Amino acid sequence: MKAHEASTSATSRAAARGVGRVIPHAPKSSSAFHDRRSRTGALGITRPTSSAAERTAELARVRAKAKRCQACPLYKLGTQTVFGEGPVDARLLLIGEQPGDKEDLAGHPFIGPAGHLLDRALAEAGIDRTEVYVTNAVKHFKWKPAGKRRLHQKPNSREILACRIWLEQELDLVRPELLVALGATAAQALMGRAFRVTTSRGQVLKDSQGRPVLATVHPSSVLRAPPDQREEQYQALVADLKKIPHGKPKPRKG
Ligand code: SF4
Repeated sequence: MKAHEASTSATSRAAARGVGRVIPHAPKSSSAFHDRRSRTGALGITRPTSSAAERTAELARVRAKAKRCQACPLYKLGTQTVFGEGPVDARLLLIGEQPGDKEDLAGHPFIGPAGHLLDRALAEAGIDRTEVYVTNAVKHFKWKPAGKRRLHQKPNSREILACRIWLEQELDLVRPELLVALGATAAQALMGRAFRVTTSRGQVLKDSQGRPVLATVHPSSVLRAPPDQREEQYQALVADLKKIPHGKPKPRKG
């Protein structure tokens, strides 16, 4: 069995025991890195106090490894791995579903139309995008051809699970005070498949590891809404973001 197949298989077994559990093959170096020192944040989550420079360097190493990931078939479809971006000391970490067409080509998350809408919603909620870490549950673009266009395809549970190893390392290194799940894929990756954004959006809940999570819709769903509903759905997204405790997260000092 190849290394990445073994890795995916181990993760699948973990998933069978429940979504949101600790990924068994999360690198020891990362955990040990955080065990050295920690402090508790405003929402009760224990945060690392290793220097931002150390964690930035570790995140760069993880990002470099993710570039070579072949743990699921999506590496054959996407142009490149689109890893998360933002300050390693961000108090707020936003998780979307997967990179879109523009993100896939540029190699950066949330830079397309949905990203622009997210920027506007964050600004309206009093949150500076440059102060938050943004990433996706799945790091490669899944698509199918539609004429000259590449049509977005929803990642399946195996792909989400395979990619969880990268998300967990981002969460472990940034260890934000609050995770914001944008859309059902991200929300269910953290809260389990029974979780419904429609009924639980805008509430700070905890995932199975005790991490505070607030779920809302993905900005692309606002863009896809019928024109006469778009403004209402956008305002609902802004209202959810305004519920983030203490308003404007600011990067911690390293
Ligand atoms: S989608 Fe995630 S798990 Fe699949 S190949 Fe890309 S980085 Fe690896």
